[in-house]
Amino acid sequence: MATFARTYKARGIVLRARNLGEADRIVTLFTLERGKVDGVAKGLRRARSRVGGRLEFGNEVAVTMHRGRSLDVISGVEILRERWSALVEPPRFAVAATACEMVDAFCEPDLAMPDVYALLAGMLAAIARSVEPRMLLPRFSMRLLEALGIAPPLGDCVRCGKTLAPERAWLDGAAGGLIDDTCRERGRLLPELDREELTNLRSLAAPRDAEQRVVRAFPNVARAVELLVAHHLGRRLKSAATSAELEANVNVR
Ligand SMILES: [Zn+2]
Repeated sequence: MATFARTYKARGIVLRARNLGEADRIVTLFTLERGKVDGVAKGLRRARSRVGGRLEFGNEVAVTMHRGRSLDVISGVEILRERWSALVEPPRFAVAATACEMVDAFCEPDLAMPDVYALLAGMLAAIARSVEPRMLLPRFSMRLLEALGIAPPLGDCVRCGKTLAPERAWLDGAAGGLIDDTCRERGRLLPELDREELTNLRSLAAPRDAEQRVVRAFPNVARAVELLVAHHLGRRLKSAATSAELEANVNVR
């Protein structure tokens, strides 16, 4: 055994896994204690692997990690919350994959973000019992931007800083927020939000109220939130849970 080898325990959510060699997999966990961590699961692809079923996507697990030279090795796994069996259903899977991809893309390795952890754990629990999981995505996105400290102000124009008129604003993806009529370049087609839609967007971003009311995003607002996320990620998400594709998904059910 290596002299400097050490073990540590962590609580984490399985974000993704990829193959390593013949039988092993590298599992990316979002842990409470250390944020994003990669761990090698040895022999995971063998039929009789003890840990195989436990490291399924979306599960919340307690892992024992053995610090390796380049990658840490997962030496023990216990399931804390089994989510996979509920998340495997395609509409739920698409939304869960998008939520996990966002956390994966926004969060740095080895950086604990307890607020994001709580948000993702709550999101996966909500998806697992939802019959309309895509409805959960806009609020999750806005709360995630908030937890990451990159949420735009929703009362002011992000270009000139002036207070927005209550009845109309435009979502400027390139500027990463709402803009007013003055800052809107003529001829540039931007999603326009009216008074009700602006109120809707602000309630999505607000902490949940005492009654735990579920806020549903209007279609226009859901698209605006996607643009905001794309702005911060610098790209569109790979997962299928964009509004257009999900609408198609829901329609064929
Ligand atoms: Zn302005």
